[in-house]
Amino acid sequence: MITERPAPRAYYDITDSEAAHLRTRILAGERSDTGAGRPVLLRGATVITMDPEIGDLHPGDVLIKGEQIAGIGPDLLDCAGPDAVIVDMAGMIVMPGLIDNHRHCWQNAFRRLIADADLDSYVATTHGGMAMHYRPEDMHISVLATTLGAIDQGVTTVVDFSHNSRSGAHSDAVFDAYRESGIRAVHASAAPNAGAWEEQWPADLTRIRERHCGAADSRHSIRMGLDISRVRPVRELLSIARSEGLGITFDGVLGAGAAPEIGELAREGLLGPDVTLIHCTDLPDEVWRMLAASGTHVTLATTSDEQIGIATGLPPIQTALDHGIRPSLSVDVEISLAGDMFTQMRSTLMTQRMGTAMRRYRGDTDCPEMLTNRDVLEFATVQGARDNGLGAVTGSLTPGRAADIVALRAEDITNMPLNNAIGTIVQGVDASHVDTVFIAGRLRKWRRDLVGADIDAIRRRLTASRDHLADRTGWTVDPLRPAGNTRPAFDHLASFVDHQQHDLLES
Ligand SMILES: [Zn+2]
Repeated sequence: MITERPAPRAYYDITDSEAAHLRTRILAGERSDTGAGRPVLLRGATVITMDPEIGDLHPGDVLIKGEQIAGIGPDLLDCAGPDAVIVDMAGMIVMPGLIDNHRHCWQNAFRRLIADADLDSYVATTHGGMAMHYRPEDMHISVLATTLGAIDQGVTTVVDFSHNSRSGAHSDAVFDAYRESGIRAVHASAAPNAGAWEEQWPADLTRIRERHCGAADSRHSIRMGLDISRVRPVRELLSIARSEGLGITFDGVLGAGAAPEIGELAREGLLGPDVTLIHCTDLPDEVWRMLAASGTHVTLATTSDEQIGIATGLPPIQTALDHGIRPSLSVDVEISLAGDMFTQMRSTLMTQRMGTAMRRYRGDTDCPEMLTNRDVLEFATVQGARDNGLGAVTGSLTPGRAADIVALRAEDITNMPLNNAIGTIVQGVDASHVDTVFIAGRLRKWRRDLVGADIDAIRRRLTASRDHLADRTGWTVDPLRPAGNTRPAFDHLASFVDHQQHDLLES
């Protein structure tokens, strides 16, 4: 016997009061003390799982129970259970949350301050200028604003490369911000690059992990963050990370300055699947072969390399692919760059296709294939998780994995009608289309509004923090000042950029 059941309704037919009622029921379910929480069934969407075993569904349902995805299928109404909250989502694309594999969240009281800066100016302004004046509360409010902004733009996991860990209290304040925003955070804990600090790092890594990660909060994990151009002694630090079972993320893998040392580490067998290298601009082929052979991961910073002009300015998209390495993507610094992963996907796709088109036009008969929209979505989801140690946890919509889920409005004026889901995700979406976000099964954005975030209070605190730091650093906030290199304002710090290195261990 076939039971008559109503077809899922489209998101644009659901009234505000119905939506408000659903929100209340979802949040009440999260607070229920049954442990698992009330199930939530996302029904009738176009589902892009990024899991090749499951494929994509149109229409499809996704069932959330507790922190996990409990089921994916064309119609799960009968599996949802009588107390499930049913959310009709026809017209939406449901997909895995985006993964930003490298962002310096602590800097973001200064978003866009130096949008035209080069690398030296960036380093002098941040590490050589503001960083040393940060108090724990400055870390907290910048990370809170950054991670909420990321969630608003569909990011569910961020690798926060936190290289201003001036004390244990600074690191604790960062974790408080993760908890408040609800983001899944991979905390790449790193030492400050300059100025006085408590020198609690790397010993503090163990304390941070016990206090904030794993059993303390399943959404948080920790890696050792190393800026290869500045911290020493690298081998000893690697060995400390490994004795603690920590993954390692290297920032600052920037061309000729870093290539010889990366090469030596690779030759000594010190790289491998527990290591992720960021940027990797202008590394020699021999090093790339060793990275591939050792299973070392690579995170691109496409807009950072191109706009800030790091080494050749050419992100090694094609080089990584030529060596069989699928990269992940990252925002890097909002002080100069766009802060969303749609920009990263588009820039990476355009850059690779531009390079391929040029070779083809010039008569190269051995050109690589052009990347597809699906390729860059894979980089920003599945590959992101593989590269930050969460490959078994997140990155795809797969039963048993975390319910890190994003629902995109795909029938709004800017992207209607929905003709191609992958193309819409990569080319036809911005933050305003990010309708709903779950992280670890918890509702973080609903009907385009962040859940539980007091934006006015955050704005006040972020502005006060920015003003304090500006004052201590000795400059005046002026939104009309050119966004170029701030070196005139930081002349006394110009020497900072001469690639000084500091020792992090007692010898
Ligand atoms: Zn970086």
